[in-house]
Amino acid sequence: MRQPNVLRSLAPLPIAFLSHPAPPMTFPSKSFLDESYDSPQDHVADTRSESLLEHPDKPEEACGIFGLYAPDEEVARLAYFGLFALQHRGQESAGIATFNASGSHCYKHMGLVSQVFDDQILQDLSGHIAVGHTRYSTTGSSHVCNAQPAMVPTRLGDLALAHNGNLVNAADLREELLDRHHDLVTTTDSEMIAFALAEAVNDGADWVSAAEQAFNRCYGAFSLVIGTPNGILGARDQQGIRPLVLGVLGPDIPEVGQPAHYVLASETCALDIIGATYVRDIEPGELVWITPEGIISRQWAEATQRKLCVFEMIYFSRPDSIVNGESLYSYRRRLGHQLAKEAPADVDLIMAVPDSGVPAAIGFSQQSQIPYAEGLIKNRYVGRTFIQPTQSMREVGIRMKLNPLKDVLEGKRILIVDDSIVRGTTSRKIVQALRDAGATEVHMRISSPPVTHPCFYGIDTDNQDQLIAATKTLDEIADQINVDSLAYLSWEGMLAATNQEPGSFCSACFTGNYPVEIPEPFKRAKLKFEAKEPVATLGVP
Ligand code: SF4
Repeated sequence: MRQPNVLRSLAPLPIAFLSHPAPPMTFPSKSFLDESYDSPQDHVADTRSESLLEHPDKPEEACGIFGLYAPDEEVARLAYFGLFALQHRGQESAGIATFNASGSHCYKHMGLVSQVFDDQILQDLSGHIAVGHTRYSTTGSSHVCNAQPAMVPTRLGDLALAHNGNLVNAADLREELLDRHHDLVTTTDSEMIAFALAEAVNDGADWVSAAEQAFNRCYGAFSLVIGTPNGILGARDQQGIRPLVLGVLGPDIPEVGQPAHYVLASETCALDIIGATYVRDIEPGELVWITPEGIISRQWAEATQRKLCVFEMIYFSRPDSIVNGESLYSYRRRLGHQLAKEAPADVDLIMAVPDSGVPAAIGFSQQSQIPYAEGLIKNRYVGRTFIQPTQSMREVGIRMKLNPLKDVLEGKRILIVDDSIVRGTTSRKIVQALRDAGATEVHMRISSPPVTHPCFYGIDTDNQDQLIAATKTLDEIADQINVDSLAYLSWEGMLAATNQEPGSFCSACFTGNYPVEIPEPFKRAKLKFEAKEPVATLGVP
């Protein structure tokens, strides 16, 4: 009998602990996942909609991925710490798969990395290869059956696939796979990549050739780490939209061709936490294959113009991650310098929306010579919960997460810096809280251009009609969030601050120029105003 909804949402979520023997195996005719999973339709409550806080007024990252080849090391424990460092990229579910001589093991569950795993689970995940994933859902709902790594058996043994990104041809690929009678278990595009790879293996290809065949059926954004009994694969899409870095355990980088304990991760912060050394980025269209013999690299697709997501630089990636040879903290501080040049203001204090606005606010303060102060204190322990606030608590709104410092703000003209505005709902509450705390003027500066277009490459930026800058002028936005002045950083300024070739970034959510073509039905579902000019203007009001 179905439980009432309220009980279902409180009931423990199903878990999976898979342990599969080494090959030979046959191609699956039924679900690979344990029966303890409930069906994709049988959803648990969506943690985002039942959060104590509203749906965050920020673009949301899709996933963090991690992989490791390290005989004689506790690979699951290292993967746990790698995922812990990547937690900001997804908080809905986490999973680790390992491979040893006796087969594969996988454990995945809804929740934060620290909630999903304990000591015993990590001890049971033995092996010399580990693949880890932490998830925020874009394609596929927030449900345990969509948690990754996606596990699929093949004639060469199981594969465990962890994916960051979004395929724009997911609907077509799903049709193709269903036509060939594959039993897709989840609603994710990641599982489709895993099945395409398994299909090529089962048709006779080795792991690397199968990966090349599978990736050539995929369009869109994908960084992948794939564990197999024979080795671990890492790959990036043809434009390198989502990040993937290569490291080695320990302080020394081995000679080319020498075996080593290699690590693959979405960001360098996941290398730092386990004492690994950064070697290089995986290149757009590149595939690496790590085995006991060492590492080989191939271009599975001809390298084209790199198009790293510029939002990784502005907001998604951790500020201590290194991109293009420097920390993103340094880049974000430069955004603040540029913003202060483009949109100065006569105020008493510069402050940030914590934490993501802090580096740009410090940069603004340095450039403008106006003092920087903390005016909002963040409660870092507000997380996802099923407990709903009372009506009166809802009215204090933002203060559950950000509490203003009255004695800092009272009687002051404030300029507050944030990294982006998506819908504007949180900005309005923050501004009101600052005014209530005694600020006499509140000016807002945004260290990125107006977000006018949705993302199709694995970042949740809402549909276009929900993006405030796609529907309102700068003055209307300023009115709505109740600021004395508002200015965004220019598109040119954002790209110039990277100190890189401007064409090497995707910035489609600011321009609508998508680097990978979006199929029309998919595009229409999210784009509502494509025929019109963006209505928000750039630069100083
Ligand atoms: S559209 Fe925006 S969020 Fe999406 S990949 Fe491009 S820059 Fe990143």
